[in-house]
Amino acid sequence: MPAEILRLAHLTSPLTRFAPAPTGWLHLGHVLNAEYVWGIAAALGGRVLLRIEDHDRTRSRPEYEAGILDDLDWLEFRPDLFPTSAFRAGRCESRQSDRDEVYRSAVEVLRARGLVYGCDCSRAEIVAASDGDTSGERRYTGRCRERGLPLADGIGWRVRMDPGVEAFDDGRLGPLSQHPAEQCGDLLIRDRHGNWTYQFAVTVDDWQQQVDLVIRGEDLLASTGRQIRLARLLGREHPPAFLHHRLVMQSPAQKLSKSDGATGIRTLRAAGHTALGVRSRFSMSGSDLDVR
Ligand SMILES: [Zn+2]
Repeated sequence: MPAEILRLAHLTSPLTRFAPAPTGWLHLGHVLNAEYVWGIAAALGGRVLLRIEDHDRTRSRPEYEAGILDDLDWLEFRPDLFPTSAFRAGRCESRQSDRDEVYRSAVEVLRARGLVYGCDCSRAEIVAASDGDTSGERRYTGRCRERGLPLADGIGWRVRMDPGVEAFDDGRLGPLSQHPAEQCGDLLIRDRHGNWTYQFAVTVDDWQQQVDLVIRGEDLLASTGRQIRLARLLGREHPPAFLHHRLVMQSPAQKLSKSDGATGIRTLRAAGHTALGVRSRFSMSGSDLDVR
C-alpha cells in the first residue's frame, strides 16, 4: 500500500472530492489528481463527490463545464455523489454558481461574529502596501479593518485572520504548520465584482458537503492553513484531512498548464488516444504515484 494511504489509514470511509474549475478544458494535471482522488478513495473504502468550481463568474464558461463532464465520462471517472448527469440536468447543488444562498448564509455567520469588513483597496494599492512573506505571496495589511465600510456590491469583503499557527498532518508531507496572518493577512472572501473567492467557496463547500479528505496538488499547499482557520471561524470543529500530491511535470521546471493544448484531454481524444492510454500514463505503485 502506498505510504500516503498508510498515513490516512485512520480515516474510515472518507468523503473526498474532485473539483475542477470550468475555466479551461480537462488536462493531464486533472487526470493525475483524479487518479489520486479515486485511487485513495477506493483504497480507504471512501467515496468521491464531484463539484464544479465556477465561483469565478468572469472566467468560467458553460462549454468548458460540458467538456469536462464529457472527458470525465470518457475517462471513466465515476463520482459517487453528483454524477455528471446531475450537472447536465441543469441546476445542481454541487455547482458553485448554484450555491449563492449557501455562501450568503456562511457570510452571515462570520458577520455575526464581527469578522467581516468591506475593503475598497485597488489591486495597485494592495501591491504597493503589501509586505509578503518569503514565498513572495502578497499579504494584505488590513488597511480597511477599522474603516467601517458596508458590505456592499462594488467593494471586496474580507475576513479577519488574527495571528496564530494552524498545524495539520499532511497525508504525504507529514506534520506542517502555517501562519495565515503572516502569509496572506485578512482573506478576501468576495471580490468587488461579486465573485466568491476560491478560498471562501471551497471552505464553505467542504464543510457543508461534509468532505473530510481533501486530495490536491502541492501548488495549493499554502492555502491549507487559511482554509482550516476559515472553517473554524465558520463553526467547523474538525477540519478535513489533507493530502498534497506532486504535480505532473512536463520538464522539471515546467508545470503543465491548461493553456497547453498538447495536454488537453479532448485534444488527445481527437488525436486517437484511448482512455486507457491516457490513464496509464499515471500508475499507482510503490510509495507514490509514478508519472510515466
Ligand atoms: Zn482595503
